Amino acid sequence: MRVAVTGTPGVGKTTATGRVDATLDVVNLNDLVRDEGLTSGTDADRGSLIADLDAVADRLAGRDDVLVESHLAHHLDADRVIVLRCRPDALESRLLERGESAEKAAENAEAEAIDVILSEAVDRHGLDSVYEIDTTDRSPESVAESIEAVLLGEREASAGTVDFTGYL
Ligand code: ADP
Repeated sequence: MRVAVTGTPGVGKTTATGRVDATLDVVNLNDLVRDEGLTSGTDADRGSLIADLDAVADRLAGRDDVLVESHLAHHLDADRVIVLRCRPDALESRLLERGESAEKAAENAEAEAIDVILSEAVDRHGLDSVYEIDTTDRSPESVAESIEAVLLGEREASAGTVDFTGYL
């Protein structure tokens, strides 16, 4: 099974997937892109590398028992897509604590409030494959348990279960 764990930067993807007890290999897409040079250029505004998603897909071809985590993971083929969510004000605090700029923290909080990644995930994969998990006020271990429940087929697909538009 191919599982994508996605969500706005700062929702806790790397932290939670690092605690998931599963037989799947966990692949951090950002590390893969950086380590193997799977880029198609540089984003001049953000000063960050642009991932070459076709090259990433080729690199992962044939790897089925894998959990891919990244804010770009939902752009790849997957059997199940887990979208981690976080209330925008809490997300902004997490990003500031991680050392991100105030501008980047605010930009990501706004993207979270308007469901950017959830919408992209549903557009590409359909409602039946998307599992939304709210991480606000939950420990990384508890979030990891919810991810494990999706892997085990113990959770129903869900999207649109949170409404953060009040934080715009
Ligand atoms: P992502 O991989 O989604 O960008 P990270 O895993 O890097 O997010 O987490 C972002 C920041 O939030 C880190 O500083 C991390 O320690 C913190 N964090 C992660 N999960 C939680 C959580 N469940 N509750 C509170 N803080 C968290």
